[in-house]
This record gives sequence, C-alpha cells and structure tokens, in this order.
Amino acid sequence: MDMDSIDTLNLLAPQMSLEVDGEPHLSSASSSCFTSKERDHAFTQSAQLPNGQKILLLKTLLSSVCERDCFYCPFRAGRDFRRATFKPDEFASLFIRLSSANLAEGLFLSSGLAGGGVKTQDQLLASAEILRGKFQYRGYIHLKIMPGAEKDQVYRAMQLADRVSINLEAPNTERLAKLAPHKIFLAELLQPLKWVEEFRSTVPAYKFWKKRVPSTVTQFVAGGSDESDLELLTTTNWLNKNVHIKRAYFSAFNPISDTPFENKPATDPMREHRLYQASFLLRDYGYDLEDLPLTKAGNLPLNTDPKQAWAQINLAGHPIEINKAEKRDLIRIPGIGLKGADAILNARRMSPIRDISSLIKLGVIAENAAPYLLLDGHQTARQIELF
Ligand code: SF4
Repeated sequence: MDMDSIDTLNLLAPQMSLEVDGEPHLSSASSSCFTSKERDHAFTQSAQLPNGQKILLLKTLLSSVCERDCFYCPFRAGRDFRRATFKPDEFASLFIRLSSANLAEGLFLSSGLAGGGVKTQDQLLASAEILRGKFQYRGYIHLKIMPGAEKDQVYRAMQLADRVSINLEAPNTERLAKLAPHKIFLAELLQPLKWVEEFRSTVPAYKFWKKRVPSTVTQFVAGGSDESDLELLTTTNWLNKNVHIKRAYFSAFNPISDTPFENKPATDPMREHRLYQASFLLRDYGYDLEDLPLTKAGNLPLNTDPKQAWAQINLAGHPIEINKAEKRDLIRIPGIGLKGADAILNARRMSPIRDISSLIKLGVIAENAAPYLLLDGHQTARQIELF
C-alpha cells in the first residue's frame, strides 16, 4: 500500500474520535476512550449500523485544514499541529484498498472547512462519487454536510450516502455563539437538515442510494456552551418531530489543549448517558419534555434514571396491570423496553402472565419493574423476594 496515503490517514483518522456514528452504547457513545497507542494504529472502529449489522467503520477527515475557529475544536484555524489533506481520488483509491483487504467495511467521511462550505462539500462529494462510480463501492457511507453547503449538494449527498449528518453542536443560536462564533445556526446548520427533510418528503425513494432515503443524524457538544439539558432536549424533540432525524448524538465536552476552552472543565460522561436516556424516552416512549425529571436549572439529575424518576412520581401507588395494559402504558414501567412490551403482548394472547419469572423470561428487568406492576391484581414485590 502507498505509504504516503497511509501516513496521511494516520494523521487524519485518529482525529475523528469526537464524532459518533452507529447505535451508541449508552455507557460509552464516544470513541474518546481509545488510548493514544490505539489511536496511532487503528484506522477503524467497530460500529453498529441502524439495521443492527456490526461493521469496521473508517472514520476520517478528508482534510484537517480548517479556516474556522470553533472554540472547542482541535482543528480550529491557528492551532499548531500537523495537518494533512487527501485529494478525492487519492482517498477513494486508499479506501478501496482498505476495503478489499477487509480492513474497512464502511466509511464515515468529514472534513475541516477550507475555501468555504461549498468547495469543501464538493471534495467530499467527489470522493463519494469516485467510490460509487469508478470503484462500484456499494458498502456503507456516512457523509458529513458542511456548514454553508448548498441545497443541490445536500441532494447529491443523499444520492450517494446511506447516512448524512450535520452537527448542530449547540441547541440554539445564542448557545452556538459561545462555541463557534462563525457558524450560523439557522442558515448554515439547521437549513441543511430542513432540506434533507424536504427531499425526503418530496423525492421518490428510488432516486436515492440503493433506492432508500438516507437516514439523518446530528450531534451536540454536551456542556460546551453552558447550555441546559432542557435546551438540548427541546431542540432534539423539535428535530425528531419536524425533520425526522434518526437520532441525536451527545458528545460530552472534553477540553483540548491550545484552544480557548482548554481550561473549561470536562462534562461528566454520566450527563451524556442521561441525555441519551431522555432522548430515547422522547423519541420512542411517548414522553413529553414535561415528563422529564428536570431540575429548576433545566438539567437531568445525574444520579437518577429519568424513566425511574417518572415512575416514582406517577406510578408509585398506581401500579399497572400487566395483563390488561396497552403498550403505551407497559413501556412506562421501568425495566420494560419496547421489545419487552411486545413480548408481553404476545405472551398474554396465549395465557395470562401470573408470575415474575415469566416476565423475566420475556426480557423484563424484574427488580426495576416490580414496584410498579400488578399480575392479575397482585403486587409482585413479595414474588421478587422469593425469587
Ligand atoms: S468548522 Fe468544524 S473543523 Fe473547523 S473549527 Fe469548527 S468544528 Fe472544527
């Protein structure tokens, strides 16, 4: 393999540790736990695709040159480190060789901004076009949309990629100004997400890659702009409902040396975890923002699971009858997820569920669920003790 290209990749791929793709693991959504030694030698990271498939994903920048000066970012203009840039054909050739050698099964491609969003987006699109066209690559591609990209570039990205993303970084204009003074929240970041939704709802699916509309995600720097969880979750809720993002990622802020935020305290990783839990409750479990146990300052308590907190207030003294409840009520019980609720509904079509051991076999976490449910009118706390 061409050592110059490998050297360039060695400079660019480890820099992507701040970006998240795939289904995040609640305990560790960021790859920033890679040791520096692993970063030096690993180009790829294991990632789980939305369909559940696990692949080796090459996450890399096309270029680490950037003209912007976002306060938290290691690539900000003027920061002193060794930068590198791939040409699209050079990168595509390298990726195909890695893919042929089974060293990479998918690609997440981003870039620093050089020469404006339109020019940078053209470089990303050219790389994907070479892969899809010249090399007939049919595997997974996640393409980043650059701030300032144009509408037709967003459409082209959707024709080439399985997933497209635009990082909002902060929940609103005011907060973004504290993080990235030259990014424009509405025009540069939110607008492309709206275009994706416009294309999704007006263009027939066969016009997109593999005749499927690509999924869309975004990412926030949790704790980067002193924002509250309520601000992050309000924007996430809006995005879920209005532009149908697949998910929001939350990346706990970590200070980077030689940036204006180098002395800003790191965000507790538990905050990231609680934000994911709350965002899933909003997206999948029918919760509203008012259901979340937010403090007066608008933050989720770090020491409490938000679903557990809701149940303590709303279900203690009003347990739910497992053999009669509808799915929307079953999934409000801690320890019962979407799959567990479906399993309960299926099982009770055959016969009533009478004991906690049957629930455990259906995937329910009994010790979490027991205080809040009835089995044929009986509380299960005593059954748990016996069990
Ligand atoms: S535009 Fe992107 S790469 Fe450049 S400094 Fe801001 S966050 Fe970093």
